[in-house]
Amino acid sequence: MYTIEQNKSLKPYNTFGIDAAAKYYSEIRAVEDFRELIAEKKLSGEKKLILGGGSNILFTKNYDGLVIRNCIPGIEVVSEAEHAVIVKANAGVVWHQLVLWAIERNYGGIENLSLIPGYCGAAPLQNIGAYGVEIKDVFYELEAVNMHTGELEKFSLADCQFGYRESVFKGKLKGQFLITSLSLRFIKLNSPHAFSQYRFRTEYGDIKETLGQMQAYDLSIKAVSDAVIKIRSSKLPDPQKIGNAGSFFKNPVISKAQFDALVAQYPVMPSYLQKDGSVKVPAGWLIEQCGWKGKVVGNTGSHATQALVLVNYGKATGNEVWQLALDIQQSVKEKFGIEISAEVNVI
Ligand SMILES: Cc1cc2nc3c(=O)[nH]c(=O)nc-3n(C[C@H](O)[C@H](O)[C@H](O)COP(=O)(O)OP(=O)(O)OC[C@H]3O[C@@H](n4cnc5c(N)ncnc54)[C@H](O)[C@@H]3O)c2cc1C
Repeated sequence: MYTIEQNKSLKPYNTFGIDAAAKYYSEIRAVEDFRELIAEKKLSGEKKLILGGGSNILFTKNYDGLVIRNCIPGIEVVSEAEHAVIVKANAGVVWHQLVLWAIERNYGGIENLSLIPGYCGAAPLQNIGAYGVEIKDVFYELEAVNMHTGELEKFSLADCQFGYRESVFKGKLKGQFLITSLSLRFIKLNSPHAFSQYRFRTEYGDIKETLGQMQAYDLSIKAVSDAVIKIRSSKLPDPQKIGNAGSFFKNPVISKAQFDALVAQYPVMPSYLQKDGSVKVPAGWLIEQCGWKGKVVGNTGSHATQALVLVNYGKATGNEVWQLALDIQQSVKEKFGIEISAEVNVI
């Protein structure tokens, strides 16, 4: 069952803590709820927005339509082989709860993605990633309801067209599907054979160093997860204390020729060579070079330790944050000739 509320403040439902209102607001706990909701006569002409944990969204104005918060609960094992298991998490499961659930059972695959905020339903939308792992690496399939027909459809890895912080649901199929469940393939590390073959991803960020500090000499997914949690908690501002949506911009990917020209001018410019020969440049570094790191602009600003994270110091409107983002974008363009684009979904 669901209820429909009117003129509902979305402040508790977005990690930026922006006080925008939804004309209509409803929470669903089953696929059937969604079908009944979209069949409601009074809502038929309304535009619709799906919300999960609200950790990757910026409301620049009130939402003149129906906001549907996807709270469908439940995690289940759908099939099991000797060394692997397919696990289905419904869209309303908090992502980190799924990580903890997997670690408890010694199922390897998503420990590097510990502590990423948000719900499982939104995780494939931008192919969440951290510390060398992306959701596409463990993806099996997902189910989504077509917003127009109400039909449940399955999407394979190829169908999702995952890229760096991208998927078909952020591109061509934007706003057309409600993701209802996500199935992932984990490795059963209780099996000695699987454990010996398993590739722990510790070469990214400070994971190795942190494991050393923690004196975690026996490698396990729990140890890797604890290290990731420790690093993230020390580096990223906690949205409970200071409103933010994590990295506001994506890291731009530029051509080798453009990179070579820039590095001649800025020899310390960090970079990551991509398989296709292009070069990824950390947006945080570009923003910092433009003087934005730690800068406070009214009620908003770029965070003091993470230039890429834009924050709400308490009373910011979505428009203030967006204006800051546009100003940062423009100065990076002027200084480096590079376009940085928003990772956050701006509404
Ligand atoms: C402190 C912090 C750190 C972060 N670190 C990372 C990180 O390391 N890596 C990373 O990749 N991201 C990171 N993020 C971003 C964010 O956590 C992820 O993008 C997350 O998957 C968003 O989930 P959500 O449920 O909060 O999505 P929401 O913000 O609720 O929604 C995001 C988008 O998905 C759509 N959507 C939501 N649910 C559904 C659904 N069921 N079906 C269809 N569309 C849907 C929404 O309409 C919206 O466009 C971070 C955010 C914060 C605040």
